[in-house]
Amino acid sequence: MPPDFVALDKAHVWHPFTPMQDWCAPDHEPIMLVDGEGCWLTDQHGNRYLDGNSSIWTNIHGHRHPRIHAAIKAQLDHVAHTSFLGFANPPAAQLAGELTALIPGGRLNKVFYTDNGSTAIESAVRMSLQYWEQNGSPQRTRIISFDAAYHGDTLGAASLGGIPLFKGSGNQFGYAVQRISSAEQLESLDDVTSIAAVIIEPLIQGAAGMRVWPQGMLKQIETWCRAHDVFLILDEVMTGFGRTGKMFACEHEDVVPDFLCLAKGLTGGYLPLAATLTTQRVFDGFLGDASEGRTFFYGHSYAGSQLGCAAALASLAVFREERLLEQLPAKVTSFTSVLDTLRAHPHVIDIRQCGLIAGIEIGKSKDPREEYPAADRMGVKACLAARRHALLTRPVVNTLVLMPPLCATEGEMQRMAEALRASIDEVCGSD
Ligand SMILES: *Cc1c(COP(=O)(O)O)cnc(C)c1O
Repeated sequence: MPPDFVALDKAHVWHPFTPMQDWCAPDHEPIMLVDGEGCWLTDQHGNRYLDGNSSIWTNIHGHRHPRIHAAIKAQLDHVAHTSFLGFANPPAAQLAGELTALIPGGRLNKVFYTDNGSTAIESAVRMSLQYWEQNGSPQRTRIISFDAAYHGDTLGAASLGGIPLFKGSGNQFGYAVQRISSAEQLESLDDVTSIAAVIIEPLIQGAAGMRVWPQGMLKQIETWCRAHDVFLILDEVMTGFGRTGKMFACEHEDVVPDFLCLAKGLTGGYLPLAATLTTQRVFDGFLGDASEGRTFFYGHSYAGSQLGCAAALASLAVFREERLLEQLPAKVTSFTSVLDTLRAHPHVIDIRQCGLIAGIEIGKSKDPREEYPAADRMGVKACLAARRHALLTRPVVNTLVLMPPLCATEGEMQRMAEALRASIDEVCGSD
C-alpha cells in the first residue's frame, strides 16, 4: 500500500496563496497530480485534465517532452548541481551565450542567474541601485513601478507591486518605490535625477487580471528612460518564451531594456531557474579591485543550476527544431477565434488577450458596473467547476485565466473554452 498522500499533505503541508482552513476541511480532497503528457495532467484517481494555465504560467512545450527529458537525464549522468559561487559549469555558460544571442542588437550580453522570478527582479533592482551608488549618481534611489503591478512576493519584489493583497503586513521594505499608472504620468514626474529605474510587465500585467497596456506605451517608456538616463527593467517572467506570440514581449515594440528578467518558462517549466540579463555598461560599473567593494554581493545556493540550465537549453532547442516561433501567429489566431466563442456569453463581460495569454472576466451582466463582489469568489467557483469539465486553471478574482502551453492544438484550446463555458453556465447561469 502506498502512503496516504492526501492525509500526509493535509497533516503537514502549507500551500502557497491558499486559504488553508478550506484546504484542510474534512470534505476537501485535494487533487494530487501524478502524471503529465503534453497539455494533459492526471490525478490520483486517473482523471485527466487540460493544463489550462500552463501549471501556473510555467509550462511551454507540454509535459514530458522527450527533448527536455533527454537533456535532463543526460545532465544527471554528469552532475546535478554544483556551486556557482567561485565555479563555472558548461550548461550555464552555454545558456548565457544562447540567451544573450536571442536579444536583437547584442545589447544585453551579461546573464545573472537565480532560481525564481522574484529574485530575478530583485537582482535587477539591487544592481540598479548599487550601480548608481558607486558610479557617481548616489541620489538615484527611487524605483518607479506601476499600479496593480506584480513582480513577485519576496519582500523586496513585493514592495514594487501594486496589489495590496500580495503585500502581506506592511509596505516599507527599505527602498523608495513610487507607483504610477501610465507613460504620460512618467513623463510628468518631477525630480527625475533621483530615479534609478522604471520597472514594468511589458504589454500585459498578469496578476492584475491580464490587463493589456495600450499599444506603443512600452516604446514611449523606453524613449523616456533613454532621454533621462534611467534604467528600464522589464519583467518578462510571465511574458517570456513565446507566450505573447514572439520570443519576448519587448520585441513587439522593438524595445531593448537595461535589465530583462526571465524565469517561469525559462526551463520550459521543468525546473526552477531564473536569469537577469543586463548590459556591458551595468556590468562594467561593478568592476574594480576587489578591495574597493564594488562587487555585487548577492546570489542564491541554486544559482546556475546545472540541471535547470540543461533543461533551458533543451527548451530553446525545441523552439528551433519545431520552428515554434514561425507557428505562433497561426496559433494565436486560433486562440482568438476560440476565445470569440465565449464573447457572447451573458456572464462574460470582457475578454483580454495577448498572444496565448487570456483573461476572461465574468460578471452579473454585460453591464461592467455589475461586478460580482470579490467575497463571492465567483472566479474560484468557476475554476472549481472547470475541474469537473477536465480543465485546470486559477482565477484572478473574477478573471478566469486561460494560458495554454504553446504546444496546445486548436482542438485542445477549443476543449478548454468549452470547459470554461460549461463552468460559467453552472456557476453564473446561462442567461
Ligand atoms: C510569477 C511572476 C513573478 C514571480 O516569479 P516567482 O518565480 O513566482 O517568484 C514575477 N513577475 C511576474 C510578471 C510573474 O508573473
